[in-house]
Amino acid sequence: MRRKIVAGNWKMNGSKDLVNRLVGQVRSGLAPLDNGVEAVIIPPALFVGDVISETGGEIAVGVQNIACWDSGAYTGEISAGMAKDSGCDYSLVGHSERRQLFGETDEQVSVKVARALASGLDAVICVGETLEEREAGKAEDVVSAQVRKAVSEVDGGQWQQVVIAYEPVWAIGTGKTATAEDAQAMHAAIRAVLKSLGAPSEQISLLYGGSVKADNAAALFAQPDIDGGLIGGASLDAKEFVSICRAMPGKS
Ligand code: PEP
Repeated sequence: MRRKIVAGNWKMNGSKDLVNRLVGQVRSGLAPLDNGVEAVIIPPALFVGDVISETGGEIAVGVQNIACWDSGAYTGEISAGMAKDSGCDYSLVGHSERRQLFGETDEQVSVKVARALASGLDAVICVGETLEEREAGKAEDVVSAQVRKAVSEVDGGQWQQVVIAYEPVWAIGTGKTATAEDAQAMHAAIRAVLKSLGAPSEQISLLYGGSVKADNAAALFAQPDIDGGLIGGASLDAKEFVSICRAMPGKS
């Protein structure tokens, strides 16, 4: 059975004060959560320790980015090993904001995936097309190529650490969401790509991201190939984030 995951990416938002308020509210709002969802909080790296203290081990924690290197003279960077050592379970890799604003390439994404997995983190690999690519009918080709490259260094025994988040770039932070049918079609295509690569595709969790809110989550999560969500803006509102986690249908 595939893991059901709802991960909240705080991006570069928050403060110690927010950690103190929000994490406790999410924690109490999720207890008890009986639909099998694993909730994950992905705060700015400086707050990882504070978030872990507040979760009491009840919510998984991740980082938003890791370096391409294990250690060394890379001022400002944080390695996968450091994230793991600090208590993280997950790392996002290849978020579209990193690709678009910081020029992260498919090659770097594949190196980061390898670093995350080798360090014992689960990698949430973000892929997605731009509006221009979708309108040109290239969405599936673009996403397939991103997936192929991102997982090119994954070893057989590491697939259980791989999660893929399909996030159409035009839907991130815009209030526009892919229809449940379009999202499902892309998720099925991603699963087919994974299968063609010899991966245990039926066991790999695929998340949808892009303006997911409490009022559209249930329709997305009802799709057969959508195993959860990567949530940006709505993860900064405890009530909204908890409702999204609860929108997942029960275990199947
Ligand atoms: C994201 O940051 O990955 C994201 C999906 O953001 P939002 O939910 O705000 O669109």
